[in-house]
Amino acid sequence: MRIVIAGNGFAGVTALETIRSQDSQVEVALVSRETRGFYSPASIFAYMEGRVDEAHLIMRDADFYTRMAVQTHFGAAVQRLDTEARTLLLDDGTALTYDRLLIATGAVTAGWSIPGSRARGVFKLDWLEDAQSLLSHPLRRVVLAGAGRIGVELAAVLAERGAAVTMIEIQSTVLPGVFDPDMAALIQQRLVEHGIEVRLNEGLVEILGDPVVGVRTERGEIACDAVVLAMGRRPNVDFVNPGQVGLGSGGGILVDEHLRAADGVYAAGDCAETWDLFGQRAINAVIPTALDTGRIAALNLLGQPTPYPGSINANALIVFGRAYFSLGSLHGERVHARRDGVAEAYVVRDGRLVGAQFAGETRFAAQAQAAIRRSITLQERFSFDALRKRMICPVTVANINR
Ligand SMILES: Cc1cc2nc3c(=O)[nH]c(=O)nc-3n(C[C@H](O)[C@H](O)[C@H](O)COP(=O)(O)OP(=O)(O)OC[C@H]3O[C@@H](n4cnc5c(N)ncnc54)[C@H](O)[C@@H]3O)c2cc1C
Repeated sequence: MRIVIAGNGFAGVTALETIRSQDSQVEVALVSRETRGFYSPASIFAYMEGRVDEAHLIMRDADFYTRMAVQTHFGAAVQRLDTEARTLLLDDGTALTYDRLLIATGAVTAGWSIPGSRARGVFKLDWLEDAQSLLSHPLRRVVLAGAGRIGVELAAVLAERGAAVTMIEIQSTVLPGVFDPDMAALIQQRLVEHGIEVRLNEGLVEILGDPVVGVRTERGEIACDAVVLAMGRRPNVDFVNPGQVGLGSGGGILVDEHLRAADGVYAAGDCAETWDLFGQRAINAVIPTALDTGRIAALNLLGQPTPYPGSINANALIVFGRAYFSLGSLHGERVHARRDGVAEAYVVRDGRLVGAQFAGETRFAAQAQAAIRRSITLQERFSFDALRKRMICPVTVANINR
C-alpha cells in the first residue's frame, strides 16, 4: 500500500508519526509546497519579534524524515487531484499515485477580490516567507484589514516594532465570533492603550496606489504604506475537483465520521470541514484540531476504524504581554466574574457549560475544556461554585473567600 500525505503542517506531520507508530513498512510519501521543515505558524509572531530565529522555529530535526522512512517532495505544490486515477499532480511535473491520500494543506488568507489587493505593499500572513517579506518592507503606517486572531496579534507585533497601526473591522467588535462582546472590549482597550487605532463597523472597499498609498473604506480614506489582509482564511483546496471531492459551505473538504472525503481520500486540519462537539459542521482552524484530525485520519486510512468525536473551539492569544483564551461556544447565558485582575466568562446553555473565556491568565483553560467536554458528553449540570472549586487550587479558593 502507498500512502501520500499532502501537507507538512500539524495535521500532516501528526498523521505521518501516527502511521509510523503503527506500521514501519507501509510506503509513505509527503508533499509540501515549502522547502523548510515542519514549523508552527503560531510561532511566526515570536519570529517577527526577534524572540526566535528561523532555525529554532523548525520543530523536527534534519533526520526526522529519514527516520520516518518517508519519500519527501519539498518545494512542490499539489496542482490537481484526480480521484479516479488516484493521482496527485505536482507543479514540478511529478505525478504521484496513491492507495490512500491524506489532504492536509491547511488554509490561506481570503480577501484577494478587494480591488488593489495585488499592489506592491499588500501583505498576508500564511507562511514564514510572508512574515519575512512583511519585515523587509518599511513599516511606518500600516492598515490591518480584519481584527480576527491573526490581525490582533499582528497589530501588537507591528506596533511594538514602531509602526503606526490602524485596524479596520467590518463587525462591531474585535475578534468577532471568538470572544463575547465584553471580553472583546477588554482586548480592544488593550490595543488602544498601546497606540493602535481600532475602527469598527468599517469595511475595506479598495486599496489605493501601486505601491500602496492608502485604503478606501466605507467611511473614507486612510493613508498608509502597507496593508495586511487578515479578513479571514479559507481552506487551501483549489486543486480539488468538487465533482470528485465534496466541499462544504465554508469551502472545506467535507468528511464523514472517519474523516474520509472520497474513496481512499481523507482530510485533516484547517482544510477539513468537520464538526464541533455540539454536532455543528465547522472548520475549527486551530492547532489542537489539526493534531486530533491528523492522528484520527491516519488510523482510519490504515484500516483502524476510529470515529472523530468533534472539536472544541479553542483560541489563545497574547496581546502586549496579556493572555486571552476562548473555548467552546459563545451562545447562551453568560456568567461573568473578575478576580485579581483576571476576567472570566462562562457560557451556559440548558444548564450546561458550553463555553469559557479568560482574560489575564489561561492556566484554567485545560480544566475548563475538560468541564465543557463533561458537560456535553456526560450531560453534567453547570454549577459555578463546583466549577470554581474544581478549577482553582484550595489555597486560592481560600483567598477568594476571605
Ligand atoms: C500567523 C498564524 C498564527 C496562528 N496562531 C495560532 C495559535 O496561536 N493557536 C492555534 O491553535 N492556531 C494558530 N494558528 C492556526 C494554526 O496554525 C493552524 O490551525 C494549523 O497550523 C493547521 O494545521 P494544518 O496542518 O491543517 O495546516 P498548516 O500548518 O497550515 O500546514 C499546511 C501544510 O501544507 C503545505 N501546503 C499548502 N498548500 C500546499 C499544496 N498545494 N501542495 C502541497 N503542500 C501544500 C504547507 O506548506 C504546509 O506544510 C495560526 C495560524 C497563523 C497563520
